[in-house]
Amino acid sequence: MLTTEHNIPIEKIGNFNGVELWIKREDLIHPDISGNKYWKLFYNVKYYLDQNPSNAKLITFGGAFSNHIAAVAALGKSLNISNLGIIRGEELKDKIYDNPTLHQAFNNGMEFNFVSRESYRDKSFLNQTLKQNFPEALIIPEGGSNNLAVEGVQWMLNEHTKDFDYLCTAVGTGGTIAGISKVAEPHQKVIGIKVVQDDSLENLVKNWSGQSNFELLNALEARYGKITDDNIRFINDFYKRYQIPLDPIYTGKMMQKLIQLIDDNYFEKGTKILAFHTGGLQAIAGANQQLQKKNKTLIQF
Ligand SMILES: *Cc1c(COP(=O)(O)O)cnc(C)c1O
Repeated sequence: MLTTEHNIPIEKIGNFNGVELWIKREDLIHPDISGNKYWKLFYNVKYYLDQNPSNAKLITFGGAFSNHIAAVAALGKSLNISNLGIIRGEELKDKIYDNPTLHQAFNNGMEFNFVSRESYRDKSFLNQTLKQNFPEALIIPEGGSNNLAVEGVQWMLNEHTKDFDYLCTAVGTGGTIAGISKVAEPHQKVIGIKVVQDDSLENLVKNWSGQSNFELLNALEARYGKITDDNIRFINDFYKRYQIPLDPIYTGKMMQKLIQLIDDNYFEKGTKILAFHTGGLQAIAGANQQLQKKNKTLIQF
């Protein structure tokens, strides 16, 4: 399972306003360990297992629809390692079966510890308690970003990504864009579309990557997890045209903003752009559930 041998296709989406847009399908790695989450976990888990822990256990943190929680649970299952998810929101305790992400993680064997939003925020206390209770476990930060995650992301780039002028990704905690920025070619620029409002990201990414070849721009709706009708329309339309599914938290927002930038002449004519499809498709079931409750148009593939 933990191998760098994945043959990830790069597909041409089309020419827009004199600019070529391509997409690298990291979402095809695995339905639940998808895209960047696989690469971010790669060295963290590999180095941990190399030490032959006698009571191997993965512990991490996440919200109700977290792609990272889904990825850790599925990776734990495929490597046969027990795993524990610290989940934000005590109220979810009785709703595991109503929540597609948690239900799937549960079926994959994840144990849960549901904590209040207040306790969830105090990560240093949580970490300390977990270290005491599970001294041999690997504790992975929320979203999975750390130095080893940044190292793993380098595998998203290879000889087939070198020709592009721009590399583009959605940005949450910043580990993915840091990895891309770190190993990009000197002639390449990196664009990150932020789906969260977080002014500390710029410095965080710079520190991880050691580069300043990147630019962070806000998604049209940069509030985390906020789903807009306009973006749902875009995602459904994009699928009809190109048969490529996008998610409403990350990749749908990245692609809509990117196409708007192209339309606004942000890029020179003749530019070749590669966008990374970082996955996240497992969250669509949960998003559709929310949309259905509000009688809104669903994501339809
Ligand atoms: C987590 C995630 C991201 C953001 O990655 P960061 O390293 O946290 O910036 C982007 N796309 C998808 C689909 C994700 O699940």
